[in-house]
Amino acid sequence: MRAVDIIMKKRDGGELSREELATIVNGYVSGEVPEYQVSAWLMSVFFRGMSFRETADLTDLMLRSGSTMNLAGIKGPFVDKHSTGGVGDKVSLILAPIVAACGVRVPMMSGRALGHTGGTLDKLESIPGYTTRLDEQRFREYLERDGFAMTGQTDAIVPADKKLYSLRDVTATVESVPLITASILSKKVAEGAESLVFDVKSGPGAFMKTVEDAERLASSLVKTGQAMGKRIVGVITDMTEPLGNMVGNFFEVEESIDCLRGKGPADLMEVTYRLSSWMLVAAGIAEDVSSATKLCEEAVSSGTAYELFIRNVKSQGGDVDRMLALCGTYRSKYVRELRAPAAGFIQSIDAFKIGLAGVYLGVGRNKTSDPVAPDVGFIFQRRKGARVAAGDLVATVYGKDAASLDAAWELITGSLAIGPAEPTQSPLVIKEITAL
Ligand code: URA
Repeated sequence: MRAVDIIMKKRDGGELSREELATIVNGYVSGEVPEYQVSAWLMSVFFRGMSFRETADLTDLMLRSGSTMNLAGIKGPFVDKHSTGGVGDKVSLILAPIVAACGVRVPMMSGRALGHTGGTLDKLESIPGYTTRLDEQRFREYLERDGFAMTGQTDAIVPADKKLYSLRDVTATVESVPLITASILSKKVAEGAESLVFDVKSGPGAFMKTVEDAERLASSLVKTGQAMGKRIVGVITDMTEPLGNMVGNFFEVEESIDCLRGKGPADLMEVTYRLSSWMLVAAGIAEDVSSATKLCEEAVSSGTAYELFIRNVKSQGGDVDRMLALCGTYRSKYVRELRAPAAGFIQSIDAFKIGLAGVYLGVGRNKTSDPVAPDVGFIFQRRKGARVAAGDLVATVYGKDAASLDAAWELITGSLAIGPAEPTQSPLVIKEITAL
């Protein structure tokens, strides 16, 4: 089977067989099919799409390109959550201990910040001493003891995605529903969770800019995940405004601690409780979302979720005393204030512009090899809907140096829209698709 014939077939709108897909995927991993042919194939998939059967086969082939986590011997149920990425999205840090406190095990494999979106691993690694590089034995040990464990993708798990994702990144082929589905699902299935909840973000601050696109991705993840024998929920949530009051690596750890101590902002807690509740339903711990939400709220108000978070920080090498001492003080000395240019109501704070500005400040990165800083980002004193007088403080912004603040400033001032009328608040949870 020649790669060129497979590319041609997809280019002309044909449906590829499993064998043809295997020729490309396995050939790319082994080095037999060169990058330029895989690039052409990716672009043909980008334009022509894939059938449901092709997407499921591609996911399965990618999954089989490496090893899977062995959770045998640990008592479940195992459920994980995946977010397609946003700005200020620290939900994983809050949700994992909440769900673990309710008796579910959460084997969480997360990613790093890329482009305008933040990354769970970078946030956790801003805690002094915390490591996200866990071998399988330690991952299993912490998962069993603390109810959840947080790790990065290893070289052994889904190597096909590592190669394909890097290539997609430089060939403008990331935004393809079947390719995203196969990339995300192959990694999540390899983790060993029996049920998965996907938070598919929609809006300017997300990958999927419209609700329609987010719905296409959520449906694809749910349908393909179900075909792989998993219980799946897809929740479409709004990513027009940054989530919560803080954006930045340690800043988001700090806000997560506030949430686990019962002092979280309403928008962040709404999304966290909705997703954690679906995890309990998918795990069979609760019958419906409203009874699950009560359990999640109780996990926070009793302090159990906070205790599990602290236990996990200790397990993964973090210095708990230092982390707590840094809350409220871990701030770069390069600081500037964003003030309202006029009186009125804040109409919006554009999450995409804030995320892009964050790359300059040192919150995020353009390339996977770029370093990030722990003590930079945004603390919002006012959010959408607030009435402001000219000169009122909207956000305090911290950068890695003075030049980074200069470079980000136009984006930051451009993110803020002020108008005369109070804006309507759009719903945070837009749509839910279940296959349980
Ligand atoms: N995140 C992933 O892991 N893969 C994609 O393709 C897009 C986002």
